Amino acid sequence: MDHLNIRDEIIPYEERRSRHYRRITLSILDDRVRISAPKNVSAKQLKDLLHAKQEWILTHWLENLEKQVHSLRQYVNGEHFPYRGQGLELCLKRHAQQSIRVSLEGQVLMVHVPHDLPEFQGSANIQDSVIAWYKAQARKVLKSKLDEQAKQMQVTYQDFRLKDQKTRWGSCSTRGNLNLNWRIIMAPEEVIDYLIIHELAHLTHPNHSERFWQRVGAFMPEYLFWKKWLKDHGQELVL
Ligand SMILES: [Zn+2]
Repeated sequence: MDHLNIRDEIIPYEERRSRHYRRITLSILDDRVRISAPKNVSAKQLKDLLHAKQEWILTHWLENLEKQVHSLRQYVNGEHFPYRGQGLELCLKRHAQQSIRVSLEGQVLMVHVPHDLPEFQGSANIQDSVIAWYKAQARKVLKSKLDEQAKQMQVTYQDFRLKDQKTRWGSCSTRGNLNLNWRIIMAPEEVIDYLIIHELAHLTHPNHSERFWQRVGAFMPEYLFWKKWLKDHGQELVL
């Protein structure tokens, strides 16, 4: 499938042509954006239209993703949340303090909620707090993995930033600044490692050439398996 790249978000995109279509229709589906057009519309016309509509597409695409995510997670007791390849069980409890506190106790994601917070299960406040906890863990874990792996690969990077994107996992600038999506912390450990090796390998090869993939393979021989895992399951890594 083709992709649209709008402000760093990668959106799967499909073009349908038929002489039965009378006009151009743009639709936002759950897993792709589709444009249906009559046969006689030129490729340039479509390209111009996509360009003119890109803000609209991005807004609606993200809104739709948000809706899907919302129906996926309930934030109720006993629900499981992915974290470094494990399933953490959510446990909500009241406490006497004024703020929501999230902590990890073994395999339990403990969320203490102020006793006077009217909403309890499933509230947006709890969601926000859990996301903040995940981001904080991601910052720590990814930084330490980056440092360790950079040493092994004998490369140095400039700066590391945690990104909040729906569709992109990481990037590496020509100046050696690495960006990693915090959501990767939900993936299995090997997938996290793959992403880190991938971005660090870009310090040597700023492209996806054969030599780039050889370098990734030199540090992770089974990388194809985890690369595919991320492609197949990446959309599930949402909170
Ligand atoms: Zn890459």
